[in-house]
Amino acid sequence: MNKKVFDIVVIGSGVIGHSIAYRLKQEDPQLRIAILGDPVNSLQASRAAAGMLAPFCECKVADPFFKFCRESLNKFPKFIEELTSVSEVPVYFSKAGSLMPSSSFLDSWQERKEFFETESIPYEIWDESKIREKAPFLSRDCGEIMWVGEGQVNNRQLHDSLMAASRKLGVQVLETNVTGFIRKDSNISQAVTEEGEVEGNHFVLASGSWSAQLAKVLDVNLPLKPIKGQMCRLKLDEPFFDYTIHGMMTYIAPWKEGNGFVVGSTMEDKGFDSSIESKVIDALIQRAAEILPCIKDASLIESWTGLRPAANDLMPIMGRSERYKNLFYSSGHYRNGILQTPNQADYMVSIIKGLRENEIPEFSPSRYNL
Ligand SMILES: Cc1cc2nc3c(=O)[nH]c(=O)nc-3n(C[C@H](O)[C@H](O)[C@H](O)COP(=O)(O)OP(=O)(O)OC[C@H]3O[C@@H](n4cnc5c(N)ncnc54)[C@H](O)[C@@H]3O)c2cc1C
Repeated sequence: MNKKVFDIVVIGSGVIGHSIAYRLKQEDPQLRIAILGDPVNSLQASRAAAGMLAPFCECKVADPFFKFCRESLNKFPKFIEELTSVSEVPVYFSKAGSLMPSSSFLDSWQERKEFFETESIPYEIWDESKIREKAPFLSRDCGEIMWVGEGQVNNRQLHDSLMAASRKLGVQVLETNVTGFIRKDSNISQAVTEEGEVEGNHFVLASGSWSAQLAKVLDVNLPLKPIKGQMCRLKLDEPFFDYTIHGMMTYIAPWKEGNGFVVGSTMEDKGFDSSIESKVIDALIQRAAEILPCIKDASLIESWTGLRPAANDLMPIMGRSERYKNLFYSSGHYRNGILQTPNQADYMVSIIKGLRENEIPEFSPSRYNL
């Protein structure tokens, strides 16, 4: 590869890196932008996720993280519409909502209702007759059901669409890994890759679970590690249902359009372990079948492992580096990076372009002196 010079070099080719590049290029077509990284790395979170857009089922307090995720959910319809019109790659996106059985959330049922009321979150409680009318496929052991106004996306299609859109807008996608950096004092000048050096005026570290390894090369101690999730995908007759179902330690997420239903997931602190254990997958299916009995007869399409990038405080790390003048971070999106994608892209673009003075303190790299 000949030496290439870019205004902005994004390191990481998941939904986070691609959405930043796509948004930057949309706003300023003159910018020369490169994305570095293996886009189909089998352990990357963006293709391993379930695609649930679930700030209300995931959060219990109205903190800045909840607000950020809620804003992102609200941005999704327009984001998908614009993205697919640029990329011409369709993305399954649904606002059918989530279902939470009371049998799974007995301890927190009242607390959740109060939270939803206080925050004006769209929700309904379905009794037995409503459940039989709207979701007769659920087990009768589920008890009352809470319907919550959230969303669902097929995240592999989202990633495909982002990759196509950024390429179409003229982002250079270099499918090569970064192995080092050339830097002087507080300035990074080049990323060293397996295929040569890539010169940049600014760098964005968006390498998911691998961000800490790359930061180490820059002598930065990024407090982030992978949290492994094992998952599987099942074939159920379609069209069946559009809801995303959340149980205790289990969920069933529709990918639709012939792509079946994703059943997840484990949360394992095992480093970069990529193993898939059939007994774990069987247990996931068993637990899901307690809510959705027909799952027992569904055929298994595939199973996989993916790595969630988790910072020590489980908050994203987004913003300017303190150590390097021309480095930005967007990593640590942990369990909700698909949901955060649109808002994260807008937030990062405003920081990179210098349009936003103050970072959200809870997300700022400065909380770790990075
Ligand atoms: C099992 C599972 C289920 C999930 N479910 C959901 C969900 O339902 N909803 C939700 O919102 N979120 C979910 N998530 C979380 C979400 O997937 C992540 O937060 C998000 O995908 C992170 O995206 P990313 O681009 O930062 O990281 P990744 O997708 O991991 O991408 C990192 C990129 O960095 C690249 N890279 C690595 N090393 C280098 C290097 N040396 N040089 C260059 N590039 C490099 C990789 O190749 C990859 O392209 C889930 C995650 C998992 C694992």
